[in-house]
Amino acid sequence: MVFSFSDTFSGGFRKSDFEYYLVVAESESAAITKFKEVTGCDPEEVTCQCCGSDFWICEYPSIEEYFRGLEDPGRKVKIIE
Ligand SMILES: [Zn+2]
Repeated sequence: MVFSFSDTFSGGFRKSDFEYYLVVAESESAAITKFKEVTGCDPEEVTCQCCGSDFWICEYPSIEEYFRGLEDPGRKVKIIE
């Protein structure tokens, strides 16, 4: 499975070098662990209470499926395998 991590700009700023990530992992918890290792960011952290968690996580069956659903296929996405 693939998990997308989108920076929510919680508190009004981006938390890492990329706005969008795709993490290939067996489960959401495994994806979160990988994401933390690579980016040093905790996606579940809440920088600003009104904005919510720092990253929005969504599951996709494959990388192809993720890009197929994008309105902007040229989006820069950091892929973590
Ligand atoms: Zn806020």
